[in-house]
Amino acid sequence: MKKQKWVKRACPICSSKVQTKVFAEANYDFDKLDSYAFASRKIPETMHYRLILCPNCDLVYANPLPDLKNLAEHYHEAAFDSSEEAHCAARTYAGPLKAISRNIPDMKGALDIGTGDGAFLEELLEYGFSNVKGVEPSTAPIKAALPNIRPLIQKGLFEAKRFKKNSLSLVSCFQTFEHLYEPLIICKGAYSLLKKGGAFYIVSHNRSSLVNRLLGKKSPIMDIEHLQLFSPKSAKAMMIKAGFKDVTVRSLVNVYPLHYCVKLFPIPKKLKLILIPVLKTIKLGYLPIPMPVGNMAVVGYKK
Ligand SMILES: [Zn+2]
Repeated sequence: MKKQKWVKRACPICSSKVQTKVFAEANYDFDKLDSYAFASRKIPETMHYRLILCPNCDLVYANPLPDLKNLAEHYHEAAFDSSEEAHCAARTYAGPLKAISRNIPDMKGALDIGTGDGAFLEELLEYGFSNVKGVEPSTAPIKAALPNIRPLIQKGLFEAKRFKKNSLSLVSCFQTFEHLYEPLIICKGAYSLLKKGGAFYIVSHNRSSLVNRLLGKKSPIMDIEHLQLFSPKSAKAMMIKAGFKDVTVRSLVNVYPLHYCVKLFPIPKKLKLILIPVLKTIKLGYLPIPMPVGNMAVVGYKK
């Protein structure tokens, strides 16, 4: 690992510079990071940057951070080995579409930011959305996309200027906001692309959920790839600051195959590497398990 350049920042949601509350001191070892550490799903490492709790908006955010260029390099190099999990997650995230589709003007124009292998694009098409597209910075998941989905995915980091303003009915962004260098800018970008009445739908970890409070510093959300951690209060604050109205926050219960639950569980990595292949071999590993893994669905509308 080459020498890291560090930058300091204020709260990325409300710009508060008050840094008196340290949520957790830094805990990481760059030598231990393998290329999987920057993929969106992998064996948790519980390494993290120094985390500050904003007393104003309740966001927990990393400060200081490695500079943007180095972070972008990591995303480019990230490996992808979780198409099955991505599809399980996409099925769970499709749940709120029923309620959202009742409120949006039409089903024309949807964009999924950080779409991975485009598993949610498949759900959107099945649900009846047209003009569906995704954007994804890593090469590996795009390669893993289905042949009919791959052409719908643009490679790169999301930039609102690459899309037409006021043209979309739905923008979605799942398990990505923790990773973003400037989350509020992405949120405002989504706002600019939506038609009047259009919805922005985020899924993120809820750091205040029961499971994350119980696991504490052993929670998989305590991760080097997470630059901020949201609670319902801070997620709502971000959406409102970006201009969204009627913002709702609900908890989501994911359904995962048993072997993936084992992967998430805070047991030693060595044990996981033995257990997971065994579970897959005896088919028991594919048993669907509802897991309240502490995710929340955040939806806001452009009025
Ligand atoms: Zn703040």
